[in-house]
Amino acid sequence: MGKVLLPLFRPVMLAANCVWNSCVWHSRETFRQENRWPTEAELKAKFKSFAAWRELHSQSAQAVVEEYFEAVSAYHKHRENVHLEMNPPGFKPKDHLRTVTWKRQGFDVEGNTLVLKLSRGKEPIEVVLPEGWDVVVLPDGTEVKGVPVEVKVKAVVRRRRVENLVLHVTLDLGVVPVNQVGAVSAYDYNSAVFARAVSSGRLDLFVCRELLSLVQYRNKTIAGFQEKMSRLKEGSRRWRRCLSAKVRVLKRLGRRIRQIEHTLTKSFAGLDEAEGVAFAVVGDLKDLRRSARTGIKGRKASQKINQMAYDRLAREQRYKNLVRGVQTDTWTERNTSSTCCLCGARNPAWRRHRGLWVCGRCGLVLQADLNGAANLLKQYLFRDCRNRALSFAFREARVWRWDGKLNRFVQVSPRAA
Ligand SMILES: [Zn+2]
Repeated sequence: MGKVLLPLFRPVMLAANCVWNSCVWHSRETFRQENRWPTEAELKAKFKSFAAWRELHSQSAQAVVEEYFEAVSAYHKHRENVHLEMNPPGFKPKDHLRTVTWKRQGFDVEGNTLVLKLSRGKEPIEVVLPEGWDVVVLPDGTEVKGVPVEVKVKAVVRRRRVENLVLHVTLDLGVVPVNQVGAVSAYDYNSAVFARAVSSGRLDLFVCRELLSLVQYRNKTIAGFQEKMSRLKEGSRRWRRCLSAKVRVLKRLGRRIRQIEHTLTKSFAGLDEAEGVAFAVVGDLKDLRRSARTGIKGRKASQKINQMAYDRLAREQRYKNLVRGVQTDTWTERNTSSTCCLCGARNPAWRRHRGLWVCGRCGLVLQADLNGAANLLKQYLFRDCRNRALSFAFREARVWRWDGKLNRFVQVSPRAA
């Protein structure tokens, strides 16, 4: 955006920094005097009369308080997981230029000019953008015009000096233009269950208990052989016989596992091709590995990583999609298992036992992995699955189960899941 605008933005960013520091100060003060932490609403109400608050558009000022509370809850979550090295959100230096957010009501668009509003009575800041700033080109060349939903202005600091200002505009591309180039499908890999959600409203559930039990059996077999061989003298006749038995058994199990995996990814690619899907989205495995390592939602993540060859499955799916003209993309699974796909409310407790999602706000009852896949789809289309109602309806899910005699997946009644 250039340094030319810095004098215009500096007072606004300093005011936002001032609101942040007020959050820190008042939280600590309330705790010191009353032995409790203040609420978000309390701080917002308190700060309304502050001079810094009145520099900013009300939504921008509120956004600072919201960011502070997000930082506090992230800190507590880390504390619960015994990551003590993290510091609680604290004071920033007086001259720190804080990133300022303009929400939907905080700005206007007039052609190629972005009008960023400040508090009532203050002149808004106008930023002229280059032609085509709100157009996104999809991989197939289609141009989609987006609707801006949020603007952020950030300072780029290098060696403690402000080098530049950066303008981030979040565009809502909507689901309709995406549909013009073909549907989008999303996949949730989850130990024995694979869920699929498509922007056309299709829902599919692949139940693969055989695959999971084969993988578990193989792990047990490996451990068994290892235990047995550790008691034998390495290189002895009995040791060598044991080794060749191990290789033989594992080869046979590996073949059966690969066959189911192959049929599974082939079924995914086949459905996508038949239903005119342009993009298939799978959860980002890097996220899983990170959360498995840091211990966040540990159980689910470590199950996912340790038991199944998700890397291989994702790679096979990608390859099979490619030969059918379906593009594959990965996207973050953050919040997808704790948010309602229908109304967008988030509450991890609504994921009930036996893998059922029961929404406490809108009453949606759905198999939890289907809810996860639908949220991954929403996340891909809208960049966030939270606080947003679904703009299209899902049909009843089809349930598929592995048939060991036919060596393929067959559709079964939905109640079987
Ligand atoms: Zn809901």
